[in-house]
Amino acid sequence: MKGTFPVSKFGELRTPFYYYDTELLRNTLKTACSEAARYERFELHYAVKANAHPQVLSLIRESGMGADCVSGGEIRAALKAGIPASKIVFAGVGKADWEINLGLDHDIFCFNVESIPELEVINQLAADKGKQASIMFRLNPNVGAHTHANITTGLAENKFGIAMEDLDKVVDAALGMSNVRFIGLHFHIGSQILDMGDFAALCNRINELQDRLEARQLLVNHINVGGGLGIDYQHPNRQAIPDFKSYFATYAKNLRLRPHQTLHFEPGRAVTAQCGSLISRVLYVKQGANKQFAILDAGMTDLIRPALYQAYHKIENISSDEPMETYDVVGPICESSDVFGKAIDLNRTKRGDLIAIRSAGAYGEVMASGYNCRELPKGYTSEDL
Ligand SMILES: *Cc1c(COP(=O)(O)O)cnc(C)c1O
Repeated sequence: MKGTFPVSKFGELRTPFYYYDTELLRNTLKTACSEAARYERFELHYAVKANAHPQVLSLIRESGMGADCVSGGEIRAALKAGIPASKIVFAGVGKADWEINLGLDHDIFCFNVESIPELEVINQLAADKGKQASIMFRLNPNVGAHTHANITTGLAENKFGIAMEDLDKVVDAALGMSNVRFIGLHFHIGSQILDMGDFAALCNRINELQDRLEARQLLVNHINVGGGLGIDYQHPNRQAIPDFKSYFATYAKNLRLRPHQTLHFEPGRAVTAQCGSLISRVLYVKQGANKQFAILDAGMTDLIRPALYQAYHKIENISSDEPMETYDVVGPICESSDVFGKAIDLNRTKRGDLIAIRSAGAYGEVMASGYNCRELPKGYTSEDL
């Protein structure tokens, strides 16, 4: 089964471009928000780094979600979309002074702090402004996630977070500073996680850490478990909306949330991946020695995930209903890794056909580059056409 696209409306657009199905995005947001609302005090902050298209961010804001930002630019994009600063969290292992100042000037909800040197800088910059910054510590829970090595973040070897052994030390440091307010603990174990057992393992680790804090008579009001819920790249049509129900239920069942604690989530991929496709045109069909290539006008500069993570994206010829043939689907960039898929079955393909590379709404357009002096792809929503 192929996806449905307004192919006739694509005719005038210059390829390659990203196409976002806003109906699916709305339905996904509705599902995520209503499943979270089954529980008291579950709050969602969309991870802006997955897709920062202005219209996408507007729909996120309409849904009531806040934003998880990892740069000053993302804070600006979230504010521009109308997401209130009181719902913005700011994460990242290397925050520049201007970015911290931007967060302070707007009184964002909190900074997720990853080291003592960073804590000291935030305290100093907040003091300069006569403000108090709310902070959570991002801890590295040393929980492995069953996902690609380049996208696991919660192992001791990763650069992210503060080691659990150092919890007491960093909390002491924060309690000794007058311009930061320690309000909670933050975690993020990785991305494209489909095994709910990984999230349950994180919950168990958080339970232990909370016990440790309580042993010191410390009670925090906020726990933030990051993002990471995966999507079905193999079957974007069969499972267009990720399983938010099981995801939130896993946390509700396994995490011992204390009374008055709010649980924060930062989904990125799960919200936007399935609503987006990279639409491209076939430039040439080339016969190789023992295979045929479909050479597209889109390349790794437009969608880098296959080259960077060996990620699978379903590929469909949306111009052809002819019998299936097998192709290596490649881009025009001068790199051998510029391949979207090998031995892919497509309806018989010819020059000029439109190809949809599915599930590309997260970590797609935002990662585009100008390598080979290429233009950045544009993004259109179904409402633009
Ligand atoms: C990337 C990231 C997210 C979003 O991850 P997804 O897998 O897209 O849900 C959330 N929180 C933090 C801190 C991140 O770095």
